[in-house]
Amino acid sequence: MRTIWNMNSLPSSRLSSDLSVGLAKLQRTVVSCQLCPRLVRWREGIARERVKRFADQQYWGKPLPSFGDPHARLLLVGLAPAAHGGNRTGRMFTGDSSGIWLYRALYKAGFANQRESLHLKDGLQLSDCYVTAALRCAPPKNSPTPKELSNCRQYLLREISLLENVRVIVGLGRIGFEAALSAYSELQRIKYKVKPKFAHCASYEFGDLAFIASFHPSQQNTFTGKLTEPMFDKVFRKAKRLLNHQELK
Ligand code: SF4
Repeated sequence: MRTIWNMNSLPSSRLSSDLSVGLAKLQRTVVSCQLCPRLVRWREGIARERVKRFADQQYWGKPLPSFGDPHARLLLVGLAPAAHGGNRTGRMFTGDSSGIWLYRALYKAGFANQRESLHLKDGLQLSDCYVTAALRCAPPKNSPTPKELSNCRQYLLREISLLENVRVIVGLGRIGFEAALSAYSELQRIKYKVKPKFAHCASYEFGDLAFIASFHPSQQNTFTGKLTEPMFDKVFRKAKRLLNHQELK
């Protein structure tokens, strides 16, 4: 028989402990996953070969666990780790240009204790915010196949089921946004007849949940000016406003 825990019926210490145990168990499963042969070869090959500027570093070279505050109300869903970013450092959006943009914006909005995201022991902590991705392994050319996204989807679904406090979801890039929408839809947390359109800073509310779309802070977008710092900051100000002012029903 399946036991269903009700958030309101458990003492907070018990709840916190169950949540932490559930997430830790999930993270262990993710980190040892080998379901996508092409991605396993790619992530491990990158970790062996490295690049000149990181030649003296030991790469992580495994799937990335998600990261953040287990009681978060804000959930970020990105695409996938970068070959020499997360695949090197072992933490989402850490050690690459996207991470500089992301954690700077989160710091400014009050969701992170510092701007820097350099390595696993840099002291970064998130508050009321949790970071995950549609895919946990770095894909060649940042292009996962539909099968790889489908393989990895189970982890996002399980995370969403565990992170019951989440009220605002920011999808980073079209893939992150659509992965978040379809995961919540599959879990029957939201329903829509017409799929919400991806446009920077567009938001959609479904009862007690809101989704915000954002351009991904990849170099492709930030170097070309498609995404600017004020544009990115606006996304998190909007998220904060939705959470603080309880505009959600
Ligand atoms: S992408 Fe996801 S499903 Fe595929 S090997 Fe990595 S962790 Fe496993």
